[in-house]
Amino acid sequence: MAVTAAANKTQLFIGNQWGGASDGATYDDTNPATGAVLAQVANASAGDVDRAVKSAREAFERGKWATMAASRRAKIIYKMAQLIGERAAGIALLEVRDNGKTLGTAKGEVGAIVDCFEFYAGAATKNYGNSLPGPMPNYLAQTVREAVGVVGAIVPWNFPLLLASWKVAPALAAGCTIVLKPAGQTPLTALELAKIALEAGLPEGVLNVITGEGRDLGQAIVEHPGIDKIAFTGSTATGKRVAATAAQTVKRVTLELGGKSPSLVFDDADVTQAVNGALYGIFYNAGQCCEARSRLLVQENVADEFIAAFTEKAAKLRVGNPEDAQTQIGAITTQEQYDKIKSYCEIGAGEGATLLLGGGPADIGEGFEEGKFWKVSAYETQPSHRLSREEVFGPVASITRFKNEAEAIALANDSEYGLSATIWSQNIGRANRAAKALRTGTVAVNTPYAVFPGIPFGGYKQSGYGRELGIETMAAYSETKSIITYIGEKPIDPFGV
Ligand code: NAD
Repeated sequence: MAVTAAANKTQLFIGNQWGGASDGATYDDTNPATGAVLAQVANASAGDVDRAVKSAREAFERGKWATMAASRRAKIIYKMAQLIGERAAGIALLEVRDNGKTLGTAKGEVGAIVDCFEFYAGAATKNYGNSLPGPMPNYLAQTVREAVGVVGAIVPWNFPLLLASWKVAPALAAGCTIVLKPAGQTPLTALELAKIALEAGLPEGVLNVITGEGRDLGQAIVEHPGIDKIAFTGSTATGKRVAATAAQTVKRVTLELGGKSPSLVFDDADVTQAVNGALYGIFYNAGQCCEARSRLLVQENVADEFIAAFTEKAAKLRVGNPEDAQTQIGAITTQEQYDKIKSYCEIGAGEGATLLLGGGPADIGEGFEEGKFWKVSAYETQPSHRLSREEVFGPVASITRFKNEAEAIALANDSEYGLSATIWSQNIGRANRAAKALRTGTVAVNTPYAVFPGIPFGGYKQSGYGRELGIETMAAYSETKSIITYIGEKPIDPFGV
């Protein structure tokens, strides 16, 4: 594996200071498209977690950030948005090299990150409490929202900076201090965020970023008694472990986990639109999306037409060099994920799913022999197939036919997950009936686009709990304090003694 000339050494960001892991350990971070080493990344230990938590704790206890006028906090968060916007091109390219996603995808993400910071800059001044009806005569009652404390933010590798921003921006807006841990495979843009925080004037210790390759690092954050809340995005299996560990110290927890989200295509849909939207719904970011609409449920009387058009167009999607602006499907980010996709395609073949397209590795040519690429793939499946039920997290669509609306809803809801769904129908009554009946956190109607700052995002069932991106997210980074005040003139003397 070649070390490129660009390879450099990264550091941890603790208490507004840059420094290596306390034992000097590093690991190689590679470009999944080429196998080239991008950077030697500081490999933090549990001791470094402890330093980062102490820094965040001290910053919280100092109170400078939490008690700063909300309008001033807002200005710093807004400044971060501006700096991210100014550096959009560089951040996008770094994300492409670290993650393997396409340039177009990464640019779109940076725009969404700017929007997210802008939205929560506004939210900082609107974290309202309530004035409540007095519980007795001569009593006033109110609630105020206060920062929950130190937040441990743990993010996966599929949208590294985007998912970090979904946590960091509302946490800052609420007045929290943060220990951010990016995924070991994609640490670089989180470090850019730390540089931006420093430049924007974030006080010392408010944002700390630690990098490391093992699972132990995340575990050490969740176990640490100095942390008040865990904001976690990742797999359902890890999420369960996080919730169980966090319960030992009664931490607040929000979990954004996995999915097997459906696209429902009814016979009254505009089939061309449904095909175009469903392609995006599953193949965007090479299918490595928590909300990938990987289960296509299609009404039987339009299924042949839909499948023919879907496979024809899917075959035209360009898998290739992520840095080439023409590429639509980039690299698979990790070897573990590549192996998982491969094994699900083998499982599909073994359980009798009909291969419609792809199903194997993609060779994109010279210079990318060490890269991990998978063909755009589609299978016709039965609802009982594992390919219809389990999260693949890759460019693999499963297509299943249904007879009528009731069966479509039953199939869509027959899942341990409940993150997202898309409905394709021109019948407004049917689309709204189905939207109401689906047990998912988000339902999009006649569009694959469903994730926007300001619109709550999160799961039903084993896709997690809590909502990100909404104004209600501010409550997840706050404690509600009730203040009850007696305003009467008669002295208080309950025991009459
Ligand atoms: P993962 O659960 O393996 O890792 C996620 C993060 O948790 C990483 O930073 C990892 O280092 C850390 N981690 C690992 N073990 C830990 C532990 N014991 N305690 C604390 N932290 C630990 O997931 P992944 O493979 O990196 O990401 C893919 C998964 O994330 C998919 O299942 C996908 O559906 C899910 N995801 C969900 C959403 C959402 O919003 N619902 C968004 C993106 C990804």
